[in-house]
Amino acid sequence: MRKLVVDKNKCIGSQTCVAIAPEVFEIESDGKSHVKYQNCADEATIEEAIKACPVEAISWVEE
Ligand code: SF4
Repeated sequence: MRKLVVDKNKCIGSQTCVAIAPEVFEIESDGKSHVKYQNCADEATIEEAIKACPVEAISWVEE
């Protein structure tokens, strides 16, 4: 199964992903995004967030 992850070393806290898919991404107290809930948005929305991230911090990993 694949899992959506945010690379905190890359994330600059632009909040772009949160604006696109607030049901999936959330900014934590460190000012960086993380995945709040997996599979809570349709595939197209998640792909849009992945593409919109300015530093390509969001990706899928195989578990
Ligand atoms: S769009 Fe990218 S850089 Fe911006 S908060 Fe989301 S993961 Fe971080």
